[in-house]
Amino acid sequence: MPGIHGTRRTRLAALVADRGAEAALITRLVNVRYLTGLASSNAALLVRADGTAVLGTDGRYAGTAARVSPELECVIDRDTAGALGARASGRLAFEAHEMTVEAHRTLADKLDGVELVPLGRAVEELRRVKDEEEIALLREACAITDRAFDAVLPFIRPGRTEHDVAVALERSMVDLGAERPAFASIVASGPNGAIPHHVPGARAIESGDLVTMDFGALYGGYHADMTRTIAVGTPDGGLREIYDLVAAAQRAGVEAACPETATKDVDAAARDVIDAAGYAEEFSHGLGHGVGLEIHEAPLLGYDKTGKLTDRVPITVEPGVYLAGRGGVRIEDTLVVRTDGAELLTKTTKELLVI
Ligand code: ZN
Ligand code: ZN
Repeated sequence: MPGIHGTRRTRLAALVADRGAEAALITRLVNVRYLTGLASSNAALLVRADGTAVLGTDGRYAGTAARVSPELECVIDRDTAGALGARASGRLAFEAHEMTVEAHRTLADKLDGVELVPLGRAVEELRRVKDEEEIALLREACAITDRAFDAVLPFIRPGRTEHDVAVALERSMVDLGAERPAFASIVASGPNGAIPHHVPGARAIESGDLVTMDFGALYGGYHADMTRTIAVGTPDGGLREIYDLVAAAQRAGVEAACPETATKDVDAAARDVIDAAGYAEEFSHGLGHGVGLEIHEAPLLGYDKTGKLTDRVPITVEPGVYLAGRGGVRIEDTLVVRTDGAELLTKTTKELLVI
């Protein structure tokens, strides 16, 4: 019985054969991790069309590689791509979206009788549909994120700065079992809420503010992503209605996230709600994105995106309305597309919390 990583390599080998190549040289570290289990800052993997594979890494990771991938031959060499390339022959597919021009030249100079051909984003495509082991890790990452929100809520009050709240969220996630935050947390208060990717700063929260928090835990290499907007005191003029609008759009997006639905139609389900209320210009980004070993990965959900959702694809649904100078609302869940309905992984309430 091949393990989960062996199964993934077998699927990649079939794609390599389809492309008429003898082997693929995987140099994107996140893809090497996906195919071997080895998380490192220097590794590469040669996957041959016949399904055999050779792992390359340097001495710092030799022990870890032997432990996590005992079934793989491992070459210890600082120049991982060069060492594996030397074992290739014929057409060698490489990750052109990752390899620098300089690295490509260095590699090509070392190869003899090998033709480098682009592989495309084959591993990223394999990663789009998750296995249940991956979904279990995402589920835990999201559970930690929910618990951190609950833990930090009592800390939020007028006078706390955005930075205070961001640090509290990040500390809480780590205390609750996260490896680290999945990305730099966003805390945007009052007028700063109009900036979708605001960097939390020294602004003190005031009564009447909406506060948008976009954060998530990293667990087992998998990224949670959740946004909640809360009110500190009674929200200033009109923002309560904006909240209800974004919440309705978010519900429509989650309901539309079904297998065989085009990603642009999921985007449209939420966007139409916001457009109908006259705020089309104020929802200035795509509806969401895949999550997994990366915080943003395939598929992307947007009006200009192609492709369909399928079973076991984790995505975010995160509409927002941003009113320059006044504030903004974004509500985001991480969920898994399932044949029998979306499985919500972030479970924090989407009722407007007024504290
Ligand atoms: Zn987010
Ligand atoms: Zn997101």
